[in-house]
Amino acid sequence: MAKCEKCGAEVPQEELSEVQGLKVCEDCEIKSVKPPELKINL
Ligand SMILES: [Zn+2]
Repeated sequence: MAKCEKCGAEVPQEELSEVQGLKVCEDCEIKSVKPPELKINL
């Protein structure tokens, strides 16, 4: 197991991605890739 350097969650090694020099879990990766103020106007 590896640890997300952003939220501290323990995740399998293969689920860690490097974002801006930090090893982060999938959740944090998605959050950091997507713009925070993504608004859905349908
Ligand atoms: Zn995380």
